[in-house]
Amino acid sequence: MTKELGFSTTKKRQLLNITSQVKEAVAQSKIEEGICLVFVPHATAALLLNEDEEGFKADVETLLENWMPEGDWEHNRIDNNATAHLASAFIGQSKAVPIVGGRLQLGTWQEIFLVELDGPRDSRRVIVKIVSGK
Ligand code: ZN
Repeated sequence: MTKELGFSTTKKRQLLNITSQVKEAVAQSKIEEGICLVFVPHATAALLLNEDEEGFKADVETLLENWMPEGDWEHNRIDNNATAHLASAFIGQSKAVPIVGGRLQLGTWQEIFLVELDGPRDSRRVIVKIVSGK
């Protein structure tokens, strides 16, 4: 089963908790055992798994601001968002989470975040692919 989710973001760099929407897709699939692949089809967004805590989210946004210098990157000659592409490439654009007993096997302090790196955008897509199998 494949489900596409849509999100809008409000900041240049932002963590958006999408766990409930992904869990809903898993529930709709009625698959008890398998893998849930979450994927962003974007070059300036990414996915993270971690705790939904205000301090942590602020820390990630601070890290993203300071991670790479806004320097004379080659890609900036095209559309001036090289650091968003670089961060997306290094953070990663998919996550696979096991499904056991119909439930995502996320840890207690793990939530799924869409990471906006070049916002705000009003049409960020997330593709959830649920594959059955023991
Ligand atoms: Zn670009």
